[in-house]
Amino acid sequence: MAEYDYDLFVIGAGSGGVRASRIAAGHGAKVAIAEEYRFGGTCVIRGCVPKKMLVYASMFADELHHAANKGWTIGEAKFDWATLRDFVNSDVDRLEGLYGDTLAGAGVESFTERAVITGPNGVRLASGREVSARHILVATGSWPMMPGFEGHEHCITSNEVFHLEQFPRRLVVMGGGYIAVEFAGVFNALGSKVTLVNRSETILRSYEQGVVERLPPIMQARGMDLQFNAKIEQVSKLEDGSLRVMLSNGTVIEADQVLVATGRAPNTQGLGLENAGITLGSKGEIPVDDFSKTVCESIHAVGDVTDRVQLTPVAIREGHALADTLFGGRPRKIDHSTIPTAVFSQPSIASVGLTEEQARLQYSEIKIYTSDFRPMKNIFSPRMERGFYKMVVDGESDRVLGLHMIGPESAEILQSAAIAIKAGLTKADFDETTAIHPTMAEELVLLK
Ligand code: NDP
Repeated sequence: MAEYDYDLFVIGAGSGGVRASRIAAGHGAKVAIAEEYRFGGTCVIRGCVPKKMLVYASMFADELHHAANKGWTIGEAKFDWATLRDFVNSDVDRLEGLYGDTLAGAGVESFTERAVITGPNGVRLASGREVSARHILVATGSWPMMPGFEGHEHCITSNEVFHLEQFPRRLVVMGGGYIAVEFAGVFNALGSKVTLVNRSETILRSYEQGVVERLPPIMQARGMDLQFNAKIEQVSKLEDGSLRVMLSNGTVIEADQVLVATGRAPNTQGLGLENAGITLGSKGEIPVDDFSKTVCESIHAVGDVTDRVQLTPVAIREGHALADTLFGGRPRKIDHSTIPTAVFSQPSIASVGLTEEQARLQYSEIKIYTSDFRPMKNIFSPRMERGFYKMVVDGESDRVLGLHMIGPESAEILQSAAIAIKAGLTKADFDETTAIHPTMAEELVLLK
């Protein structure tokens, strides 16, 4: 008889957990996974995927408008939220099904119920069933944080935004991070009157500020009201169901919805980690080593729950590396440096490597190259929006340390350039590359 019921028991079927399960099973391990909500996790069910679909859908508004002025005859354009919402959610259902199929196809046993840890090798399912595993992986992700201001119960988070019954004609968004900026752009483009409330003057704090500072004027020109150095103090519900939002700067706003996006906390409540001697970090995260192992030899954690880098592709890589380490005979760590990221604001921002500020702290001589241009596509728009690319280079070695962009399709363009930067190429290598003309991406090889 086997010593344990499973070689690997995974708690949480999001990006990291599913990848680890599938790869471990491929290496011949006997794997089970438990998920209390829906297969796919935050990214597929209520994050990256449905958000990006809303971004695309919201961009039709501009395209229709601009086409109408350039020879196209467009009939009366009307937008129906329920149709878009249901379309997006039906695609989420499709993807969830694919995730389930992938796991089943890989021979992973699935439990659609909550699981808690009872000891270094023990898990109890909500049904009461107890199972044992040689290794346990916690991949339970993160959860939106809600500040405790009066009336916060009337507000929504990114969890609820994909399911709204009614389109919010007036939307207040609290926060200045990824989620706040992305949804402000989506709902503004779809026709909401959007007010973004941020506690400082700085949005997207982790990004290169020389690029980020281009976004607020564009958001304002597109019709958004930006309330900086302000917080929500109180939200009250009025008789007609609308919300009255009082800000710390004395401004009062009437809104149909208030979306709070003030960060996400690791999902570790009630998981029984203490039964295996694991103490949580100050943000509720599970501390792990470079191989995603906790202080308990048999328990591991990947993805948002470890609060290393809260990004889907990072969770996937961590899950994959863990499965290779435990069952593939190939121990490997994940390199958390030089991770390309993007904010699907309108226009989008994309970034890889060091900001100028970070580089100046680490290197004695830094060179900055920029391009400030009007993308040809924007000539179809009455707006005068410009793109801006900024490259941070080590003056001694000529190596490119960072690249930061704002403009249409930034994320699509940056992904390829990120390979060059990860590979350690120099500014001269970029300069020696022939441009593809006319494109926005050619600015990358023409930076001055
Ligand atoms: P972020 O950490 O990106 O931003 C949080 C924002 O909320 C910041 O502007 C922060 O201000 C503000 N804030 C924090 N606490 C408070 C408070 N108590 N009162 C007022 N404001 C507050 O979090 P998000 O929720 O936007 O996103 C969570 C994570 O999800 C991101 O970190 C990202 O990793 C991931 N994500 C990635 C996406 C992508 O890759 N495109 C898209 C969406 C999410 P301050 O700057 O002053 O601290």
